[in-house]
Amino acid sequence: MSATPTTAPAGATRVLVLNSGSSSVKYQLLDMAGGGRLASGLVERIGEQTSRLAHTPPAGRDGTGQEGGERTREGRIADHEAALKAVAEELAADGLGLDSPELAAIGHRVVHGGRRFTEPTVIDDAVLAEIERLVPLAPLHNPANLTGIRTARALGPHLPQVAVFDTAFHTTIPEPAARYAIEKETADAHRIRRYGFHGTSHAYVSRRTAELLGRDPSEVNVIVLHLGNGASASAVRGGVCVETSMGLTPLEGLVMGTRSGDTDPAVIFHLARVAGMSVDEIDTLLNRRSGLTGLCGDNDMREIRRRIEEGDEAARLAFEVYTHRLKKYVGAYYAVLGRVDAVTFTAGVGENAAEVRAAALEGLEGLGLSVDPGRNGVRGREPRLISPGDARVAVAVVPTDEELEIARQTYALVGAAEAA
Ligand code: AMP
Repeated sequence: MSATPTTAPAGATRVLVLNSGSSSVKYQLLDMAGGGRLASGLVERIGEQTSRLAHTPPAGRDGTGQEGGERTREGRIADHEAALKAVAEELAADGLGLDSPELAAIGHRVVHGGRRFTEPTVIDDAVLAEIERLVPLAPLHNPANLTGIRTARALGPHLPQVAVFDTAFHTTIPEPAARYAIEKETADAHRIRRYGFHGTSHAYVSRRTAELLGRDPSEVNVIVLHLGNGASASAVRGGVCVETSMGLTPLEGLVMGTRSGDTDPAVIFHLARVAGMSVDEIDTLLNRRSGLTGLCGDNDMREIRRRIEEGDEAARLAFEVYTHRLKKYVGAYYAVLGRVDAVTFTAGVGENAAEVRAAALEGLEGLGLSVDPGRNGVRGREPRLISPGDARVAVAVVPTDEELEIARQTYALVGAAEAA
């Protein structure tokens, strides 16, 4: 497959964004000429008998007469190829198929771009080989991303395909922050350093924060707290990332739904020696049975809040470990930046859990940080300030939109110049 297109068909303004996981594919079709989100969906449990495709068509085109209602397919979808074919069929049924002249490109989320990929990149055979070379750094994610890319290239050979890397925004982190203090030769031989993840979200949210403040991103220093099921913090100086909490893998940093975040690395040796656990068992413990789940059995912040209301002590402790870690990172990144213009919360917990936002910043008035209880209690999908009117440092909630950012970056790279 050598003649890979590098520019979109003339006049085409739509981007299909694909996020291929090991057993799932999430997708959105966005119109970059002001048409917004046209369709979206999710294929789950690929390879199982109980696969399911849920497709949300454009408003009024769901075939049921209802506006924007969901269409579903149940039953085995054997592999990613079958999944993407089914997605293409659903889109075609809405008149939005891969052969539609309005489709400009396909943008793929790729988790690990190592040090090599600092920007969104048009995918050709050499780029695919390079992403393959990074598999040892992201053994769960990059293979699934690659499968999605290969399948999409086969289904849409006339379309430019762009990889947007989760690590790219963090490739600007200066060496003293990116290096671990372990033997240099060993670290270099095995590409061990801080890469960071959720970069597309941190890029989008830090830029939207500057817009919310009515300032140019180059003038604004922001601490972004991306608190979803996975969670990470970043320090962004003038639009450039200078620190982030995830490291070689997404395990480091904040307390997450099921991941421990920071621990003493010697916990691992201790468990191996004293508890007789294997490396794989410890990996599973720290990635899947730790974090909020490990502390109280629940990873959903709504459930944890409900249990706290009922006086549940394990849930309260989980909440406090979570918010204590957050506060520590806010303080650390304040020191890294020196001057902070905004602290911004995003993703499922950050956008919805007012109690988490209040607890994370409680007692930081000396740093100019506080939350107005009335503003913090307001719910909404729009970016908003939750700090008091006279605050020295803005505190904001900015809903993240990784798909929109992937589409934007994809279109900026391959779209028609006049519409970009
Ligand atoms: P994400 O990975 O960004 O989709 O975030 C998922 C997480 O957000 C869930 O596991 C919940 O812990 C949290 N979440 C979602 N909605 C709410 C809500 N209304 N209140 C508190 N937490 C929420």
